[in-house]
Amino acid sequence: MSARVLDGKALAARVRAEVAAQVTALAARGVVPGLAVVLVGDDPASQIYVRNKGKAAVDAGIRAVDHHYPASVTQAELLDLVVRLNADPSIHGILVQLPLPAHVDALAVQDAVAPTKDVDGFHPENLGLLAQGRPRYISATPRGCMRLLRESGARLAGAHAVVVGRSNIVGKPMAMLLTNESATVELCHSRTADLAGEVARADVVVAAVGKAGLVRGAWIKPGAVVIDVGINRGADGKLHGDVDYAAAAERAAAITPVPGGVGPMTIACLLENTLESAKRFVT
Ligand code: NAD
Repeated sequence: MSARVLDGKALAARVRAEVAAQVTALAARGVVPGLAVVLVGDDPASQIYVRNKGKAAVDAGIRAVDHHYPASVTQAELLDLVVRLNADPSIHGILVQLPLPAHVDALAVQDAVAPTKDVDGFHPENLGLLAQGRPRYISATPRGCMRLLRESGARLAGAHAVVVGRSNIVGKPMAMLLTNESATVELCHSRTADLAGEVARADVVVAAVGKAGLVRGAWIKPGAVVIDVGINRGADGKLHGDVDYAAAAERAAAITPVPGGVGPMTIACLLENTLESAKRFVT
């Protein structure tokens, strides 16, 4: 079997065009969605992500406002910025790019973001709403994964879904979203005893670990749908996913490539969240 490639770039382009059209309609009512992007330090990957997010926002007609601080910024300064952004009526979404330097308590900063402007969906209130099955903001990456799964045509109700990785920003919300869609969900992590055995039973696999090729092609159940969130820079200088793509594509029904799968959808879904926030502030 040769898997259908789930083209995240093409799907993201469609989502971004739809966001742009709705932003234009909102602008006619006098509202321009505003996204504040907070970046701390000089991490090259973070700088690229932030630049891509800002450019995509501007392309969609969203006003992106950058706040770039040196790595020496204090927690108090960051919290002060967040308080000001929370109160700024021209800002509808606040994004704090992770990771933050070790001397800053990242959770405290995330907790300070107004839940109504938390377009990243990291605030405990928004994670709680998601857990209850009544989400306000779904973190952009898991939201993008769900869109790709819908695009794949996979039937989620009753499906056996395995999520590899239990981070607060990808793995856990992903497990909640799949649960809300009535999949039977297993959340695997670094202490899982038999990862190969768990993955082999999965109709849907979502890999979000950060280890190139961890999920072997031979583990994939024939006909499964595979969503690869991992972004790993190889010794060859290229980006690789967490899944052994070539071998997995021989067995899966559908699979996301890296790059060009989940990554572009993360940005598109961040724009959707920002648009939705601006709409909520208007009505
Ligand atoms: P994280 O480091 O916070 O979490 C990694 C998880 O993997 C942990 O829960 C850990 O238990 C699990 N893990 C580690 N080793 C394992 C093993 N051998 N077997 C099973 N599980 C194991 O990572 P994260 O922030 O969730 O990101 C995961 C990956 O996804 C990274 O490569 C990151 O760059 C990528 N990412 C991509 C996007 C995107 O837009 N495409 C967005 C966010 C993260």
